Parts: sequence; structure tokens; C-alpha cells
Amino acid sequence: MAIDQFGNKVNPIDTPIEELRLLSGAKMIFCPECGTIVKFASGEHVTAHFKHGPNLDCTYESEAESEEHIKGKVLIRNWLVERFKDVHVEFEYKIIETNQRADVMAIFPRGKKIAFEMQCTRIQGSVWKKRHCTL
Ligand SMILES: [Zn+2]
Repeated sequence: MAIDQFGNKVNPIDTPIEELRLLSGAKMIFCPECGTIVKFASGEHVTAHFKHGPNLDCTYESEAESEEHIKGKVLIRNWLVERFKDVHVEFEYKIIETNQRADVMAIFPRGKKIAFEMQCTRIQGSVWKKRHCTL
């Protein structure tokens, strides 16, 4: 996820790839966290993602996600939208309180939030546990 010059969120799932290419070429997409310019990268052998320049102060992940990971996030979003008509769903949602970033965040009309993670690789039990919490 990145933001355009108006602060609107853009991502390779909802924003047409061509539009992201144009914005990137015009240097008009930015890191949602530190505001520096990011580059959009996509191709036959690389999953669409935003490339962050070196910035030691910014924690935003700039690695390309696997196809499997992205498809999983879309499945979760689609399921949420079908299941709950009032839900607002965001990808890569920053949780200030824990300094974590949720793959998918469901935000309900009365403010309740539920974070979803699409985990494709093995993680330690302690990490798994840490990710299951209620604030
Ligand atoms: Zn940044």
C-alpha cells in the first residue's frame, strides 16, 4: 500500500496497474508512514509492490509479497465484505498501539476493529501467540 499526492491510499489490488505505473513515473506515490517517494514495481517475475528507498527511520515493509499472500488477503477482504455489509476493510493497516501492521483490518461501524493476518510461512509458536491479542 502507498498513498498518492492527495493522501488517498493506492494498492495493486484496487488500483489499476497502469495508473500506478503513471503515478510512479511522475513520482507521485509516497510511503504512508514517512512520506518519502516510493517506486512501483511489477513485472512478469515480480509481484506488484512498492519499493521504498533506504530509510533507517522508517519501518514500512517494502518487500514484495508472494502471489499466495496477496490472494489470501483478497479472499479475506471479499469474505468480510460479503459477510458484513457495513464493514470497512483496509489492507496494511497500521496499529499504532502495538506498532504492528495488519494485513487486513476490518473496521465496523461502531469502531470495533479486527485484524487478520495471512500467514504463508512457518512462524514460532511464541510469535503466533503474540499476534493473537485483544486491546
Ligand atoms: Zn517510509
